[in-house]
Amino acid sequence: MSKKELAALLLGNPLAARLCSPALRRSKGLRILAYHRILDDDPRSLAFDEALISARTETFREQMKFVRRNFDVVSFEDLHRCETEEKGWPRRALIITFDDGYRDNYINAFPILKEFHLPATVFLTTGHIGSARLFWWDRVAYLIKHTSRQSVIFADLAETAFDLSTARARRHTIERVLWWLKQVQEETRNRFLDALASELDVELPEGVAEGMHLSWDDVKEMARSGIDFGSHTISHPILSHVGESQLQSEISESKRIIEQHLGREVMAFAYPAGRRTRFNDNVQSIVARCGYRYAVSYDEGAAVEGACDHLALPRIHVEADESLRLFRANLIFPKWMLSRSHTDSTLKELASAGALLW
Ligand SMILES: [Zn+2]
Repeated sequence: MSKKELAALLLGNPLAARLCSPALRRSKGLRILAYHRILDDDPRSLAFDEALISARTETFREQMKFVRRNFDVVSFEDLHRCETEEKGWPRRALIITFDDGYRDNYINAFPILKEFHLPATVFLTTGHIGSARLFWWDRVAYLIKHTSRQSVIFADLAETAFDLSTARARRHTIERVLWWLKQVQEETRNRFLDALASELDVELPEGVAEGMHLSWDDVKEMARSGIDFGSHTISHPILSHVGESQLQSEISESKRIIEQHLGREVMAFAYPAGRRTRFNDNVQSIVARCGYRYAVSYDEGAAVEGACDHLALPRIHVEADESLRLFRANLIFPKWMLSRSHTDSTLKELASAGALLW
């Protein structure tokens, strides 16, 4: 059992949640949940990148049930209203977000959000909305999963060949390639992606991504039922690796396009692959100049009122294989559960705190 799961075992049980609810009621932290895809497909047989699956539909329902019972789920607009009226953030504030704009957000998540009357924000990569163009990570995953090659040399990445002889080896290769593609300049990434299909001798079938992304009609229907939309750029580049003019258009044009479709202000932005190294001060200042009021990163944690950067709000990741116990513990004790330094050094404290709660 991982250390995180052990801590979750101690802290994520319903009794601990109940005993901690007075502390939770006083909590001024803002939790922002980060989802990607809500999908019931077997991750092992998915033709695309299974790392993007955040939860199965039934798991998502359980998570939403817990969130509704224990938190004040708000939108960025609610948060902004509280701030402009100088009321401060609501206690136990929580925002639900989805990145990229996959259509399973509409098919699988939206009915549950509606059923529980929960607001949420979907960050759209506008160049993919209503299109059948694969995201670059799904393209990489598809090609590596479908090649008949048993090994491949990617000279830019490593001198030795990558093993493709088993599903596990292919998964490892996909992870390694995607990691590398997030470190390199945009032109290098595009050059690599353009050559990949022929290098692996795979033909991408026509319409392989048909129905994979939200359409503007889906977006409008969701917007009519309490779902909010933010920008996640046009093409999902790594913003610290693109030139000034592309940066400007990715950030401002995507906002304009969504506002044009929905007729309302887009106030939030999510940095693609948004760890702190993947955007910088220049990116943040453009986000501010374009009129966004909030921006979320992919660094883990809860935001603390008065002590956080509105243009780099941390989030709480939701991963496909996590238990409800871990989900609960991450939300109730984000400081303990999500800080790497805390996970190791305070495990003993967690154990004793957990023991007390039992
Ligand atoms: Zn993304």
